Amino acid sequence: MGTTVLDATVEAIEVAVYTIPTDAPEADGTLTWEATTMVLVEVRSGEICGTGWTYGPPACAHVVTGQLADVVVGGDALDVTAAFDGMVTAVRNAGRPGAVGYAISAVDTALWDLKARLLGLPLHRLLGAVREAVPVYGSGGFTSYDEARLREQLTGWVSGQRIPRVKIKIGESWGTNPARDLARMTQAREVIGPSVELFVDANGGYERKQAIRVMHAAAELDIRWFEEPVSSDDLHGLREVRRAVAPDVTAGEYGDSLAYFQRMCAAGAVDCLQADVSRCGGITEWLRVAAVAAAHQLEISGHCAPHLHVHAAAATPNLRHLEWFHDHVRIEQMFFDGALDPTGGALRPAPTAPGHGLRLRREVASRYQVGSTACHEQNSR
Ligand SMILES: [Mg+2]
Repeated sequence: MGTTVLDATVEAIEVAVYTIPTDAPEADGTLTWEATTMVLVEVRSGEICGTGWTYGPPACAHVVTGQLADVVVGGDALDVTAAFDGMVTAVRNAGRPGAVGYAISAVDTALWDLKARLLGLPLHRLLGAVREAVPVYGSGGFTSYDEARLREQLTGWVSGQRIPRVKIKIGESWGTNPARDLARMTQAREVIGPSVELFVDANGGYERKQAIRVMHAAAELDIRWFEEPVSSDDLHGLREVRRAVAPDVTAGEYGDSLAYFQRMCAAGAVDCLQADVSRCGGITEWLRVAAVAAAHQLEISGHCAPHLHVHAAAATPNLRHLEWFHDHVRIEQMFFDGALDPTGGALRPAPTAPGHGLRLRREVASRYQVGSTACHEQNSR
């Protein structure tokens, strides 16, 4: 048995910004949008390239080139934790929440993909898998949809792809139209039948007592998941709602650090913690967030960007499920060869493909590129 010494330096980092129009106007309880921006990072060691991304503003790309590239380029490609630690240290004065943390997440996920490819391992095997199939729930059901579109989308998940759990948006216009929220929940239950789990997400659109009243009015619809009934910053309010309603109360999609998630768990604010690999600090931080949740006897659910989460989710013992989010699914299926199929209600990472198993379709992505690609190479420093 010989010893393999792997000399792998991160030699270059590139970042590109893509803005992709939605297939229809989209809205939830507290925001409307007609396009989604992806900031995609590639890191290279020799001929091997790792790819990561976040869904955030173009400013994330400036953070990568201005704050993070110098930390990562020249470092050992196997020591992802050192790179993560260096990035977090480097942004102390810039502040980690928001776009800065999103940028760190994009770089961290690219570095994990690079490491797995360098070692010739599927990423979930490198991380230490605990499951082959990762449960997902269909997610969309925007408040901007009419009855026909909502029916079509729900039917596609439930009948077309046999996904046994789905989520729609409620809290329309900051909670000012609860009658329509109830009508849409009722329609959703009628469409999916009695055995499919129905989830709702208010995106913080309600006030505390209002959230409780809406859920009591919907009692016969057997809602299982009530996401952000009030602002995720209102930990006492989340706990108040949680104690008063039957469905699990959940939050955490904006979390940017271990301290954020620790406060949320310790406050008794949620029945299931949510976190987002593309926001919280990448796979490095996701694994730690999952441990915080486990220490509070909680499961964790991945928010959006399903292909960015799936390998980490396969290696997370206390995972509940991932969000098969319409907007991001559409983009990831367009942009990558190797995108996964949720039929049956679970994603199965490819058992042998190195890294996350995705390959960027550059000719497709380039149609949506905004500005030029920024490249930072070791020998140009
Ligand atoms: Mg949400």
